[in-house]
Amino acid sequence: MPELPEVEIMARNAHAWAADARIVELRVDDPAVVRAGLDLLAAAPGAQVRRARRRAKYMVLETSAFDLVVHFRMTGKWVRSDTRAARLRITTTLGEVALVDTRRLAEIWALPPASADAWLAARGLGDEPFPEVRDGEWWRARLEGAGAIKPALMDGARVAGIGNIVATEACWRARVWPWARPTSLDADGWAALAGAVRSFIADALAADGGDEIAYVNEGGAPPSYHAVYRLGGRPCARCGAPIAKATQAARSTYWCPGCQLLGADAAPSAAPQGRRRR
Ligand SMILES: [Zn+2]
Repeated sequence: MPELPEVEIMARNAHAWAADARIVELRVDDPAVVRAGLDLLAAAPGAQVRRARRRAKYMVLETSAFDLVVHFRMTGKWVRSDTRAARLRITTTLGEVALVDTRRLAEIWALPPASADAWLAARGLGDEPFPEVRDGEWWRARLEGAGAIKPALMDGARVAGIGNIVATEACWRARVWPWARPTSLDADGWAALAGAVRSFIADALAADGGDEIAYVNEGGAPPSYHAVYRLGGRPCARCGAPIAKATQAARSTYWCPGCQLLGADAAPSAAPQGRRRR
């Protein structure tokens, strides 16, 4: 499932492929993908593409005729057009771009020009952790009051764009136990978490595979910058202990019980499932 790094890459690609081009044709192959503004898309031919950008896990394509907001959900991808079935295709003077989506869960909203920001603001999205540099105090203020740090990282109303992979890997990099309560971290712990989120996102962006994003959940080997996600049972790269896996807040969590001890209870080798949460 695409998170901040993947959506950022797709927005950068879309910008590189279509910014300043004129739309020649826009074809909606699967009308179910368009949640709003289907009529606005009829005005696409001749419109100028201004830019593509990311906000949270949304990609926004701004044109002179409409703003297109895309949420990729599980398997949606913005690609240079190819022979696959697409849900929507845009042919511009620079070539064709398309939304492909094997599970058909992606959503598109066509909005009047220059109205995407207001639409997104109404969704209650948290502030962006990237590309702005956020320090430990910023993270402490955002996660304050949460029950546990890792699910709070994934709460889009607190911080935008972070999903299970970024949250899981950032906790490992910062040595933060996923169940740690925010009050258990000191300033050094928050600084470590701030640096961990930033470095993981930077590594994910640097590993950008080109024109098409590969999602981890599609199978294949985990990327080299992953230390724990989907690596249960393998030795920790830092301390050699086997990576553990558990369900936390209905999501898979992976962590190292040997060296990921910031904020941990006395015996963190097992997940605190079944324990009464305070
Ligand atoms: Zn370890």
